[in-house]
Amino acid sequence: MGAEAILDPAQGHPEAPILESRVLIIMTGGTICMRDSPSGFIPARGFQEQCLSRVPTFNDGSDSKGLDVVVNQANEVKEHPSLRTPTTAYGRQIRYTVFEFEELLDSSSIDAKGWAEIARTIFRNYTLFDGFVVLHGTDSLAYTCSALSFMLQNLGKPVVLTGSQSPMLVLQNDATDNLLGSLVVAGHFMVPEVCLYFNNRLFRGNRSCKVAASDFAAFDSPNCPPLAVTTSMRTNVNWDLVNRPRNIENFSIQTNLDTSHVACLRIFPGIKPQMVDAVLKLEGLHGLVLETFGAGNAPHGEDNAMTKVLADAIKRGIVIVNVTQCLTGSVSPVYATGMSLSRAGVIAGLDMTTEAALTKLAYLLALPGATQESVTRNMSTSIRGELTESSQPVFRHPDSALPERIQTLTVLGYAIAQGDFARVQEIIKTEPHWILNDADYSGNTPIHLAATSPSIAILHFLLGQGGSVHIRNHNGRTPLFLAANAGLFEHILLLRQSGAHLHSDERPAAELLAQRKPGIWGIAGITLKQMSERELEGEHTENGFERRGKGHRVDLGGSAP
Ligand code: ASP
Repeated sequence: MGAEAILDPAQGHPEAPILESRVLIIMTGGTICMRDSPSGFIPARGFQEQCLSRVPTFNDGSDSKGLDVVVNQANEVKEHPSLRTPTTAYGRQIRYTVFEFEELLDSSSIDAKGWAEIARTIFRNYTLFDGFVVLHGTDSLAYTCSALSFMLQNLGKPVVLTGSQSPMLVLQNDATDNLLGSLVVAGHFMVPEVCLYFNNRLFRGNRSCKVAASDFAAFDSPNCPPLAVTTSMRTNVNWDLVNRPRNIENFSIQTNLDTSHVACLRIFPGIKPQMVDAVLKLEGLHGLVLETFGAGNAPHGEDNAMTKVLADAIKRGIVIVNVTQCLTGSVSPVYATGMSLSRAGVIAGLDMTTEAALTKLAYLLALPGATQESVTRNMSTSIRGELTESSQPVFRHPDSALPERIQTLTVLGYAIAQGDFARVQEIIKTEPHWILNDADYSGNTPIHLAATSPSIAILHFLLGQGGSVHIRNHNGRTPLFLAANAGLFEHILLLRQSGAHLHSDERPAAELLAQRKPGIWGIAGITLKQMSERELEGEHTENGFERRGKGHRVDLGGSAP
């Protein structure tokens, strides 16, 4: 287990103020919010008021503060009453508000329209919150997780989906633990992935599947260990497994999945080639997920009729992906029956779940400029950690992993501060652990340090390695704040290109500083409306790249060197 976390002021920094994380809970429906009715359980509104405000673990009783939420396509902002948890084991409090969809659904009725609505809600509110929890029915939860994992591109913040087997208002329920566990993950741990939290486990969303209709342990991710496990002591994150965006690009969403042109078919003993042909000849079909036996085997039919049906469809432009019906393991060309499929052009889906294969296919087919070749190529490549391309042994030190890790972090810190790019590259290349989100004694990560490094190349390199731009140091400062405070024009631009934005808690200080240097802070995202264009221009030049570090520096909490 690594030392990486968003912040941990309670441990090692008892004098630090208690920081609040902000989490948006998006309610889509599902059992978690359901109530009994003459026609069975149905979703009910008023979850925050009815289910959370009366529970001490979800409400510390402090005055409710309004949180801005962007509520619709017109970017209309509405203030929502918030609640705050008591201080967690990690010395934080989580302030959250529940945003309910207009129509609450049983998840068996959710489709691509619902996925797009969730993606848009996250996108519109991305800069206002540290993390997102999506409440959703369990029936199609694994599909939604998979779909969102592809739709949310260059995601830099945690998105945790959860639900429950039994409603929150039922006496013995799993809703309380599932929601609290999800809030803690979204409010503390920089896991920039779409995840599914259930029964004390955090799974990668696109690796998970529903394995039980009524057990509390309803989900599993058979081909990928949990990203985190909650015990009575704490939530232990397996940081080495966490995927991070490695592009210098802003967060974006792709919402128009091509779900109406993909299908899924399960092979069974005795299946007729004509049956498969009938599906493959469905009007407008572009992609098919074939659930095959074992390591990817299917009957080739008399005179290879089945293989011919598949090969003909592929020639017509249809993409066919082979996934296994087994819960664990991968499609691999071991048997002749499996090999004939791959010779016909069927793509090996390796160890992808059906849910991931189907939603990935719908995502890739809808990408601008998608061709059969591009979809085929990307289908067997991991784009969000949804499949294992090859297993790579991880070199580990069995003893004293933590001190070594801290030592490396310190050496790295010096190299960054000195602008020694070659040394930084060497350290990252040889360090067996992923340390870019680890924090030093003042909560600064390597990205915080690089935000004021004399070498812009170092910042570029570390961002390309997946370091997070959203982590805040013990003073609550993001790397972007430190770069702006140091007047580093290029650094600010690069951070902004990588999706960085100022946290709402640091905006008041930033606005104060912006009165003296509106140009530089304007680039960091603070617009002072009363400033004329000319004044902004003037400031911009004065604080430009050539003069970086020379200007007067007001320190309102930034603790970078
Ligand atoms: N039918 C419910 C749903 O998926 C089941 C659940 O939430 O557990 O919405």
